[in-house]
Amino acid sequence: MKENFERISWKEYALRIAEVASFRSEDPYKKVGACALDFSNRVIGVAYNGLAPGVNVSDNFWTDRDKRRPYMIHAEANLLSLFKRGECNLLACTLLPCSCCASMISAYGIKKVVYKETYNRDTMAIDIFKFNGIDCEQIIF
Ligand SMILES: [Zn+2]
Repeated sequence: MKENFERISWKEYALRIAEVASFRSEDPYKKVGACALDFSNRVIGVAYNGLAPGVNVSDNFWTDRDKRRPYMIHAEANLLSLFKRGECNLLACTLLPCSCCASMISAYGIKKVVYKETYNRDTMAIDIFKFNGIDCEQIIF
């Protein structure tokens, strides 16, 4: 725990906002949040994983963990829908992005990515970010 007088970094700031956003996710298995800062460190987007806007499902949709998976929109995909390429400097995600999202993040020209938790099913993002010259850092608080 940090002392009260210690100021958190922009990376931690964005990641903590992403964490708050994750609490809004309707996914009972994996709640992921993401936050984007522009080049002035202003928040330009906050998102979480979930179904497409306006889609309603019955309660038993959620009982099968694997069946629901293809319909879930990742937090990063929802986040990228909120701004244009070149506008975001730092993307924070509570979970290491999957390889698909890592490719999209690269296409958006984002230069810094921070995450909290590693996604064990897919760690290719680390290589994709390195390949594309994106600074990727795990932050644990
Ligand atoms: Zn993803």
